[in-house]
Parts: sequence; C-alpha cells; structure tokens
Amino acid sequence: MKVIDAHIHFSNINSFLVTAREISKVDYSYQGYCQSFAQHQVVASVGMGLQETKKDGFPDRECGNPMLLDLHPQLPDNVYYCLGVNPYKLHGDQKNTELDKLERHLQNNRAVGFKIYAGYYHYHVFNEVYEPVYDLAAKYQVPVVIHSGNTYSERGRLKYSHPLNVDEVAVKHRNVDFIIAHLGCPWTLDCAEVISKNTNVYADLSGLIVGDSLTVAREAQKKLFVDLVKAALVYTGNYQKFLFGTDWPLVDLGAYIDFIKGLVPRAHHQDVFFNNAKRLFKIEG
Ligand SMILES: [Zn+2]
Repeated sequence: MKVIDAHIHFSNINSFLVTAREISKVDYSYQGYCQSFAQHQVVASVGMGLQETKKDGFPDRECGNPMLLDLHPQLPDNVYYCLGVNPYKLHGDQKNTELDKLERHLQNNRAVGFKIYAGYYHYHVFNEVYEPVYDLAAKYQVPVVIHSGNTYSERGRLKYSHPLNVDEVAVKHRNVDFIIAHLGCPWTLDCAEVISKNTNVYADLSGLIVGDSLTVAREAQKKLFVDLVKAALVYTGNYQKFLFGTDWPLVDLGAYIDFIKGLVPRAHHQDVFFNNAKRLFKIEG
C-alpha cells in the first residue's frame, strides 16, 4: 500500500537529533529518510517547517519567517512542507516583510501549507496575530496545521495547545482547512468533537507514541492508551477526517505504520494512509 506521511520533521533541532539517536533509534539524516521511507512504501511526506537559532532554542522566538526544513542542504524528492510560522516576528515594523516572505515561499510548489506551533508559542490560535496567515491560507487554498495537545518541551503552555481553541478559528474561517496535529492527544475526544462539528477541520494521527519499535509494540498493548485514540476515531466515525502521520524522527516508521493500521479499519486504510493527505495538501502523483 502506498503511504503519505502527513507529519514529519526534517530540521536541525537539537532535541530531535538527541531523541532520534537515543530514544527512537532513527537514522535522522537525508540518507536515513530515503532508505527508511522507501522501504515502507511512503511515497511522499509533509515536513513541518521548524528552526532554532541556538541549541535547544526550540520554540525559538528569534527565527525569521518562514521556518523551513534545514536538516540537509537538499530536500529528498518526495518531501513537501508546511511553512512554520513564528508569531513573535509578526509585529511592528517587521510585520509586513515577514508576511511577504511567507507569501513568497508559498508560491514554491513544494510548500503545501502552514504550521502553527500553538503551545510552543504563547499565542492562542485565534489571536489576531495569525489573521494574516489565515488570509494567505484562504488566498492560496492551503491548509493550516496546528500543533495540539502535549508539547515536546516544558516551556510549552498547554492552554494554547488545547484542540478546542481550533473551533474558534474554524468557525471564523470557513474557507480555510485546519488540521489538528497529534489528534490533540491527550484531549482526543475534544479533538474528535471539533473535527466532527466542523467540515473544515481534520486531524493527523502523528506523535501518539515517541520511541523505537519495542516501545511502540509495548504501548500498543496498553488498552487504556489505545482506547483514548480509538474513542476519537469511533466518535468521529468518518475516516475522511484523519491523516496518517508519524512525527518522524521521534518514532520508528515501520512500527508506527503497523500501530495505526491496527487502529483504523482496513476498509479505510486507503483514505487515512494516502487519499486524505493527497487531497488536502494537493500532492501530485
Ligand atoms: Zn511534529
């Protein structure tokens, strides 16, 4: 089965490099990506633009817009990306230049959306600072991926990353598609309600487990944890709403594909693992 991974990273972020080496045992490199993604028939991926200006700086207030994929000078052929937005730069004198840069990058055919780091950046998604970003998303008809749920940094603030916040912008911007990342975990049922109620909101299934293949196998045995995810899938009852994603390099690719396959009924694999991401991100081929 052909797969699109709707949520990966390909940025030079220290905590990702350390996690890949010590926790998920992933070869986080150009070659590592090409080898592993080809092996598992992942024909395209969407990287979430992210950068840090100093070690462990992420979430970094100093990064200019857009934040991109800077792990390697070259992007693998089948990697598309969402432009990472740093809201701290969208103020004052620099606001218009920063927005111009976002718009210019959006014209690149590998740029397929925006990524907002709610929780990491201490702004609500309905803060007016993001309004021009939503306007650009509407103008270019690209989706906005919103980080949701737990933050992979203690500096994150969880009130900003609750999936219920996405309802506010979804109602206000009916002409923009939003993708709640990580199923809003652990607030999976809240996420399920937001995507069920709003025709323009979806969720990706990335980042529910961080670790190597043994860890994934072990977590997949924990009924209460798995039920947290299943409850959201069952409540929503619409597999057009979910996109497969991993959050690579934070987890072993093959093990995570098997984990999600075990949760999604087989009849819906084609939609969740391929069609939905292809349609939303308008990925060719
Ligand atoms: Zn991520």
